[in-house]
Amino acid sequence: MRPAPPRGDSPGVRVSAARCVSSRRPEWRSAASGYCSHARRLVIGSMSKDVGSGKLKSSVGRQSMSQSSVSKSRSGTSPGHRVLEYLGIAAFFLLAALIGAEIYRGVPGTAYLLALPLLAVAAYLVADLLSGFVHFLLDNFGSAKTPVFGPNFIKPFRDHHTDPTGIVRHDFVDTNGNNSLVSVPFMLVVWLAVPVSTTVWGFLFGTFFLLLAGAVFLTNQFHKWAHMDEPPAWVARLQDWGVILSKRHHDIHHESPYDTYYCITVGVWNPLLDRTRFFERAERLLRRTVPGTDPRLRVEREGSLNERSTPG
Ligand SMILES: [Zn+2]
Ligand SMILES: [Zn+2]
Repeated sequence: MRPAPPRGDSPGVRVSAARCVSSRRPEWRSAASGYCSHARRLVIGSMSKDVGSGKLKSSVGRQSMSQSSVSKSRSGTSPGHRVLEYLGIAAFFLLAALIGAEIYRGVPGTAYLLALPLLAVAAYLVADLLSGFVHFLLDNFGSAKTPVFGPNFIKPFRDHHTDPTGIVRHDFVDTNGNNSLVSVPFMLVVWLAVPVSTTVWGFLFGTFFLLLAGAVFLTNQFHKWAHMDEPPAWVARLQDWGVILSKRHHDIHHESPYDTYYCITVGVWNPLLDRTRFFERAERLLRRTVPGTDPRLRVEREGSLNERSTPG
């Protein structure tokens, strides 16, 4: 028999067991009850609204709701942005080929090829961290009305919380267009300014950078696979081995109020960042230092992003 919740709790403050188990901070977890005090503090504002209006849903409930609404649109991308995404993907592959050619021309000696696995692991870890930071910014700052970034970058992230399975229906361009677009300016700078083929440091940096760009490109594909109930067998194997983001791991982010486990390449940083409350501290710091920003955390003001109405 499951123990009764602590006195004063309502069913509405029950949070993901996976999320509580994921944290080793004692205050996050009540082992006897399965209730999580820290998460309760964060979600109680928004969840109580749901309970009061009879709208409380489990993540399964949210998914089935979103499945019925997802047929209305595939990605919500405007035709103009879709063209940009095509161009972004084309530019990404062109620049990757050009930087790759520079790397090939600049190999200082076969001994340097031994550094490749090390550079690949480092690039993969940095990509995972970057994915978390960008995701954190897009979930917590600005709104769909923010100029330039709002409709095409912030809105898809916010919509993804209310329609988590919509991403499964995104085609190659929808899935990879935005990551290509944000990578291209950096790739252009590296191709133009870094002496990849003529210096050892340029070769090492160029190789690291190209591997990083590749991991960034793959990130949203991994994210999409993490939302599939039945991904291809080889993908499921990579997920089980912890090589790419898994559904079980990513589901922790998809619990209201969506304030942790932001990394979506593989998620290796998530437990550490969660334990140290890195993103909570980062948000507080940013809100205190950026002029005109509300100093309260997004979850303190609005609870779940799903009820979000005011820009951050
Ligand atoms: Zn999110
Ligand atoms: Zn997701």
